[in-house]
Amino acid sequence: MKGAAKVRVQGAAEPILGRMLKERGLTEPPLWKSRPPETRARMARWTELGKVRDGAVNPRRTEIADIGAETEALKAMARDLGASVVGCARLTPLMVAEGIDLPHDYIFCLVVGEDYGQALGGPRAVETESTSVYVRCAEIATALADHVRALGYPAVAHHNGGDDIMALPALYAAGFGELGKHGSLIHPTLGASFRPGFVTTTMPLALDEPYRFGVQDTCMKCNICANNCPAEAIPPANEYEITEGVRRWITDVEKCYTVSRLREQYCHICVDVCPYIHKENGDPVRKAQYKQYMAMRKKAGYRTPAWFPEQAAEVLDE
Ligand code: SF4
Ligand code: SF4
Repeated sequence: MKGAAKVRVQGAAEPILGRMLKERGLTEPPLWKSRPPETRARMARWTELGKVRDGAVNPRRTEIADIGAETEALKAMARDLGASVVGCARLTPLMVAEGIDLPHDYIFCLVVGEDYGQALGGPRAVETESTSVYVRCAEIATALADHVRALGYPAVAHHNGGDDIMALPALYAAGFGELGKHGSLIHPTLGASFRPGFVTTTMPLALDEPYRFGVQDTCMKCNICANNCPAEAIPPANEYEITEGVRRWITDVEKCYTVSRLREQYCHICVDVCPYIHKENGDPVRKAQYKQYMAMRKKAGYRTPAWFPEQAAEVLDE
C-alpha cells in the first residue's frame, strides 16, 4: 500500500516546529526541556519499541479457516493486554504516510483510555497520564504484531515510536467514532481521552464499520473547544474540509504550538473541555469531574493556558 497521507513527523524534525524554534533561537521546545526524568524515560521506552516494530515471520503459516473467529481472538488478546477498544479496517493510502510503501492490506486499531480525572491535577498530571498510556499502546501493538508474525503473516506495529500511520482515518474506518472540531476522534465511551496503537498486516481480518453518533452535528452548534483554546487555533464551525465524505476541521498548528510547545506546560485543554467526556456515556463520575474542571477554567478565564485560577495572573505575565 503506497501511502498518500501527509503525516506530521514528530519532534523537532517537524518543519513548522523546527522553523518556530529557529526563529526564537531555541534548540528544544520549552515543553520538552521542562519534562521530568520519568517522563523522558517513558518517551525513551516508546522510541526503543520503535526499533522492534517489525521482525521475522514464521515460515510455517497457520491457515485461517474462520476469519471472524481469528479476528475475535486477536481482539481478545489486545483487551487482555490492556486495550480499551479495538477495531479493524482495510488499509487505504490515506492511512499511510506519503513515501512509505507498506505491503499490507489490513489495519488492526486499538486504543487505551486515559484517566480523565487527571485533568483536575493540572498539566503535569495530564502529560504523565498521556505518556504512560502511549507506552502501553506501543507495548500492546508490539505484542500483537509479534503474535501475528508467529502465525506466519507479515505484521508491523505502529505507535508513537514511528510515523507511518495516519491515526484518524484508520480509527474512523474501524468504528471508533467521529472527528470533533478540536481535531481529535471522539469515541462514545472515552470521548477523545485515549491514545492509539496499530498493527498493519496481510493476515485477513474481519472488518468493522464507521460509527457515527451525532458528534459532527453537535460540533456545528458547540464552540466549547474553540472558546477555550488559548491560541485561538480551532476554526469556526463553518470552516471545514471534506475528505472522503468526512468533515474535517483543521487546527492551525502554528498557533497551537505557541501554547502547546513553546510554553513549559502541557496543553490538552481542547480535549478536556469537550462535553463528550460524559455526554454519550452518561458516566456520573466523569460528569462530576467535567463540571469541576469547567468550573476551574471559568475561574481561570476561558481562553487562558492557565490550568488553575491561582495560576492565571502568573500565566498572563509570560
Ligand atoms: S467541544 Fe464541542 S465543538 Fe469541540 S469537539 Fe467537542 S463537541 Fe465538538
Ligand atoms: S492543544 Fe491547546 S493550543 Fe492546541 S488546539 Fe488544543 S487547546 Fe488550542
